[in-house]
Amino acid sequence: MRAIRVHEFGDPDVLRLEELPEPRPVDDEVLVRVQAVGVNPVDTYVRAGTYGKLPALPYTPGSDAAGVLHDGGARVYVAGSLSGSYAEYALCRRDQVHALPDQLSFAQGAALGVPYVTAYRALFQRASALPGETALVHGASGGVGLAAVQFALAAGLTVVGTAGSDAGSELVAAQGAANVFDHRDPQHLHAACEAVGGRGFDLIVELVANVNLGDDLTALAPRGRVVVVGSRGTVELDPRDLMSTDGAVLGMLLPNATTQDLAVAHTAIATGLRDGWLRPVVSRELPLAEAARAHRHLMERPALGKLVLVP
Ligand code: NAP
Repeated sequence: MRAIRVHEFGDPDVLRLEELPEPRPVDDEVLVRVQAVGVNPVDTYVRAGTYGKLPALPYTPGSDAAGVLHDGGARVYVAGSLSGSYAEYALCRRDQVHALPDQLSFAQGAALGVPYVTAYRALFQRASALPGETALVHGASGGVGLAAVQFALAAGLTVVGTAGSDAGSELVAAQGAANVFDHRDPQHLHAACEAVGGRGFDLIVELVANVNLGDDLTALAPRGRVVVVGSRGTVELDPRDLMSTDGAVLGMLLPNATTQDLAVAHTAIATGLRDGWLRPVVSRELPLAEAARAHRHLMERPALGKLVLVP
């Protein structure tokens, strides 16, 4: 089978297409014939060698995909893989594959794993989001942000989002966000607070904490919570901003999810897909051989949903 292999950590050009033997499932493992691969920011940190936990070299990147079970042909999405998802076949534990409804494309299925489980955990398992609350999704145009907007709206929250391009803003608004602001505008947080009556937000899902966390603390409603989902560096903040609202900053890292957390999140995803209020958005599909280009796109271009590789 064809697969992307990484023999040394480094820039995107270390992602090379190679021929490998098909993996063979044993015990409760399953083999998925991959039709689409979800590209996540964490794949780029691992490839660069800057992530906390690194695989042994060489390795095949990726945890997200969608395809059909080699044995039986059922449509599935993959959330975690033993062999890596940037390949024609992915070996998975049975609990890493989940039913993909017929009305979703494989590319949409590849957009589910990391983004939708992350968004669910951030909103409900960390920040205990409640109907009637206000939420700011700070970075709403990307894979996790759009998922958070969709989950929060379905749970009865009022959602304000941010994006860094006109097309991104339109996309977030089309999901049903009450307002969308441009996070390149230094006044955007003030405007976002005004949009919810100046009270601030009960909840902020923060995708770029190293830029925004200090300011987020000034945009919280009484007993507001910021969930830090993404951060690429350090940030300065004034703890008094947190004290003044009895606010809280909560961390969230997907690998910390328990088996039960994951099961609950995937059940919620199944319900949302079945009932149509979860609709993964695919920005672009590139051939598997162009994995290096995909990694560059992901880090350099404005987000418009999910970038997918097609084997
Ligand atoms: P993505 O699809 O590339 O989206 C990135 C988002 O960040 C886009 O909406 C982008 O908006 C936005 N953004 C850029 N600059 C911003 C700023 N100054 N303020 C607010 N938002 C800004 O990536 P993703 O898959 O959604 O992941 C987002 C982040 O979460 C990444 O850092 C990723 O590593 C992290 N993450 C963490 C976990 C975890 O377990 N904690 C799990 C998944 C992802 P524009 O492009 O429109 O400017």
